Amino acid sequence: MKFDILTIFPNIFGSYVSESILWRAQKKKLIKIRTHNLRDAAKDRHKTIDDKPYGGGPGMVMMVEPVYKTLKKIKKAKKSQVILLDPAGRQFSQKMAEKFSQLDQLIFICGRYEGVDARVNKFIDQKISIGPYVLSGGELPALTIVEAVTRLIPGVLGNKESLLEETFSNNSFKIQSRGRGTKFKINYEYPQYTRPEIFAYQEKGKKKKLSVPRILLSGNHQVIGEWRRKHRK
Ligand code: SAM
Repeated sequence: MKFDILTIFPNIFGSYVSESILWRAQKKKLIKIRTHNLRDAAKDRHKTIDDKPYGGGPGMVMMVEPVYKTLKKIKKAKKSQVILLDPAGRQFSQKMAEKFSQLDQLIFICGRYEGVDARVNKFIDQKISIGPYVLSGGELPALTIVEAVTRLIPGVLGNKESLLEETFSNNSFKIQSRGRGTKFKINYEYPQYTRPEIFAYQEKGKKKKLSVPRILLSGNHQVIGEWRRKHRK
């Protein structure tokens, strides 16, 4: 899977994609992450990529031309999607991440300032928001999607089973049919514990302790499985 990210801040990505799962996935050649500096496609020597909005109003708007030129330069795979990050776009979800993980290439356009000239709509497949709030740029949203999608690519995670049990995974949707219509209830992952068995701490000068539920120490996987199903968050 190839990820191509159009941005005016390519350096934002360096350290995040050079650690942990994203780094391992690149080393295993399961994914490729490339950034494209939109300023390289600017027309003037000052590398201008934004201008005042027509009709007036606050802030600056990113020009469509550098985006168009950069998109034209990127070799597109057959199964690809061009995504404009936009707080007013479709809300990103695990379901979308699953669909994206079947593609060969995802291309992201990261907006800044007041966003991108609306004529960019002609060159994108969809607009995606990572949540109902406004960030300063599309770089964190792009990284969020890259990471959520990468985790689903076969071979990326060491333990395949962790995907099956994970919150929002297919397994975690329970269909409830009551009278008219069908409802989906999300089963979040069960609580997890690790060593020590008893964690001692202080609260208002008094010694306290927190123990791991005994059942998890029983070694009985059937009973543990039932407990986990019952205790999904
Ligand atoms: N003026 C825009 C508005 O009111 O909708 C906000 C622009 S925002 C300051 C700059 C850029 O950050 C956007 O063009 C978009 O690329 C990105 N962005 C901000 N919040 C986002 C979100 N929740 N999801 C996806 N992208 C977001």
